[in-house]
Amino acid sequence: SNESPIKTVNPTTNKVEKIYDEMTMAQIDVLFAKADSAYQSWKKTSFSQRAQVLHKAAAILRERKQSLAKLCTIEMGKLLGEAVGEVELCADIFDYYASEGAKLLADKEISVKHGKAFLTYDSIGVLLTVQPWNFPFYQITRTAAANIMAGNTVVLKHASNVPQCAEIMEKILREAGAPEGVYTNLFISGSKVSELVTDPRVKGASLTGSKPAGASFASAAASCVKKSTLELGGSDPFIVLADADLDLAVKTAALGRLYNAGQVCVSPKRIIVLQSVADQFIEKAKSLYQNIVVGDPLDPKTQLAPLSSEKAAQTVIKQVELAVSEGAKLVLGGKRLDREGAFMQPTILTGITPNMKAYFEEIFGPVLCIYVVQNIDEAIKLANATEFGLGGSVFGKDEKEAINVARQIVTGMVYINHTTGIAPELPFGGTKASGYGREQADAGIHEFVNAKLIRVT
Ligand code: NAP
Repeated sequence: SNESPIKTVNPTTNKVEKIYDEMTMAQIDVLFAKADSAYQSWKKTSFSQRAQVLHKAAAILRERKQSLAKLCTIEMGKLLGEAVGEVELCADIFDYYASEGAKLLADKEISVKHGKAFLTYDSIGVLLTVQPWNFPFYQITRTAAANIMAGNTVVLKHASNVPQCAEIMEKILREAGAPEGVYTNLFISGSKVSELVTDPRVKGASLTGSKPAGASFASAAASCVKKSTLELGGSDPFIVLADADLDLAVKTAALGRLYNAGQVCVSPKRIIVLQSVADQFIEKAKSLYQNIVVGDPLDPKTQLAPLSSEKAAQTVIKQVELAVSEGAKLVLGGKRLDREGAFMQPTILTGITPNMKAYFEEIFGPVLCIYVVQNIDEAIKLANATEFGLGGSVFGKDEKEAINVARQIVTGMVYINHTTGIAPELPFGGTKASGYGREQADAGIHEFVNAKLIRVT
């Protein structure tokens, strides 16, 4: 019905394109039963059988990347070129776990004084995973690939605004040879998910999204002693040291902030520059943003896409207006475009201080916030003055000095001379209110397995 929250609303036009009925609890019960019974056989399959499914899924993604990317763009508005890149990354992640999974989960010997000891990594069962809309394919792939390879079965609750992407991934995995129940999509709204975590068939719980959603989800998991992982928000610092290549730093920070219309958990959300180069930095960023083409995300000339929804655009505009009313300086932008759709101008704010909400809040949009500091100690202090701890960047030519600064930043990831990145073989995740646990890499496949000790005396 029209009331269903599960729907595609194209943010380029704000028009409803497709509506799905929410599933009933009785329907979900049947799907859980299937996921649980699929687990009983999936856990007995060999790594090479699982790898075959994942390699095939990767091949399908590559073959259909254009049409899949277009679906992303229609559902949440990202630039088509970015969406193509996302689908390719997903194919790489499936291939990575298909190729490396057996090695990563091989028995691990422990050296002991007598006899023998080793760890063996048992699958645990049905994993319930909740994912956000900002990378409709990537977010679901990283959990799915690792856990299907580990022998678990996966039940996904995707964000309500990307149902077509959610549905098609289930079809692709089935087509790739995953038996029914190995990967299941649920159409249900976020507010009803926490009660599903306590279902006895669910053995693990992972969520990527906001702090409130994560807290309620993980509490429900903890109430029945189930492990959870959380990948929550971020407010990544981007520190520009005095010896940094300024042009490179400006371009990386400014364009990085516009990537996915700024709706990235690891977007460079707080640009921290030293006083000595601040004016230059701000001027360069301003002239770059003045020439940005905002518009139709399907048009290859477009550089800044709409936000994911009308509500998202309104939220970001309000955050900017509040910051300005509290005394921040609007260097550029800050307004909606004079056209339909969830568009806003690329925006630059300076002069944000601790008595403003913007100092602490995550801004999920194309807003470059530039902070000016007197020295490196002040830069590090500011970088850590947030409840979040996801990623971060340090720009500087002296690698030793840049690494020294990186060591003092309290986050899960720090990149030197680059925005916080993503690669299948690198662990992704945060600390503090950004959550706990890791996805991708070796760490990602070890989250939902039982590292069982076998000791021979
Ligand atoms: P959100 O509201 O938390 O939504 C994320 C997912 O959680 C959606 O599937 C949503 O379903 C569901 N959900 C909502 N309330 C829930 C609840 N009480 N219990 C269980 N599930 C619930 O997040 P968002 O605002 O759309 O997404 C942006 C946030 O995600 C940002 O803070 C961003 O930084 C973070 N993020 C983090 C990462 C990372 O890896 N660390 C990656 C991307 C995004 P509905 O759609 O049905 O509401």
